[in-house]
Amino acid sequence: MARIVIEGIRKEFGGVQALKQVALEVRDGEFLALLGPSGCGKTTLLRIVAGLETQSAGRVLIGERDVSTLPPRARGLAMVFQNYAVFPHLTVFENVAFGLRMARAPKDRVQQQVARAAALLHIEPYLQRYPAQLSGGQRQRVAVARALAVEPAVLLMDEPLSNLDALLRLEMRAELKSVLADGGTTTIYVTHDQTEAMGLADRIAVMQAGEIVQIGSPTEIYHHPRTRFVGGFVGSPPMNFVKLSAAGGVARLGALSLPVKARDGDVLLGLRAEDLSPAEPGQGFRFELRVAEPLGSHVLLTGTAEGQQMRVVVPHDLDADLRPGRVMELKPRLDRLNWMQADTGMALERAQ
Ligand code: ATP
Repeated sequence: MARIVIEGIRKEFGGVQALKQVALEVRDGEFLALLGPSGCGKTTLLRIVAGLETQSAGRVLIGERDVSTLPPRARGLAMVFQNYAVFPHLTVFENVAFGLRMARAPKDRVQQQVARAAALLHIEPYLQRYPAQLSGGQRQRVAVARALAVEPAVLLMDEPLSNLDALLRLEMRAELKSVLADGGTTTIYVTHDQTEAMGLADRIAVMQAGEIVQIGSPTEIYHHPRTRFVGGFVGSPPMNFVKLSAAGGVARLGALSLPVKARDGDVLLGLRAEDLSPAEPGQGFRFELRVAEPLGSHVLLTGTAEGQQMRVVVPHDLDADLRPGRVMELKPRLDRLNWMQADTGMALERAQ
């Protein structure tokens, strides 16, 4: 059992406040992604859990044990980092066996665990090679196999796939997910890549400027962002935001009267690009198309609505004239409206 509990963690580097009072619970066997832009504090938080960095305040519990002051090796965890430090002077076999040897595991257990990890990561053919004789993707698998060979209760990963090219990253992502799918390992995975976080994680913790701003399943985070920042950071393209005026519980968008539970005044309407579709004339709002990008499975439209930029995803075989400058009418899916306060960017209670 290895639940991770992070309580009131703060970290200051000189005058820089890297983490402001972070609290987080990672369930036993859960895959949690820490997602956020560069500099938001995710690596610092992971390093504090690992014991590679000392917190200014707060506690870390792993499997109910307070590990806050223990050195990394006493915390019972394995790590894989971006620059996947495989040892160049050791064969792949010895790299994968490294943690087991350090723990003075008996010979037959080393054999057995290396064989198991190598099979999981498909690196059996390379066990006698040296890292220099491997591709980047193969080396990355060695690093992951080494972490898994010790059967860690807790696995910490920091951007482990970011050095790989796009195709390999996709492949490794699926592989990692299937390897960790049995739920026996509690995993924290740091990434700034929202696709990776969405694809891999059971839950995502979105960080901004040293704080966790939302924790939820990928679907919750994507469809119900708690702040404008989350809606804009998660999803490609980012969520559209249109500033509208609320009056008497209604905000008007072209010919549409949308119910909104807000005081009279400005509100933000958040709309996903795929939740917009062409409307009959007089039944939607005006969208002036600037550019259409055919992306194979769909077409991405960029244009202007209500004087603000908007992106729309339409089917690749949409029977419509998509030349720049064309004005069309659009309507949103009414069950997918995200209302936010215009000034704070915080989500309002969802209007029915
Ligand atoms: P990235 O995705 O770019 O790695 P991150 O979210 O992992 O970013 P951190 O590396 O955790 O961010 O850094 C958080 C903040 O703390 C940043 O403002 C960074 O400049 C600062 N910081 C990190 N390490 C140190 C250090 N050793 N000394 C001083 N400031 C630091």
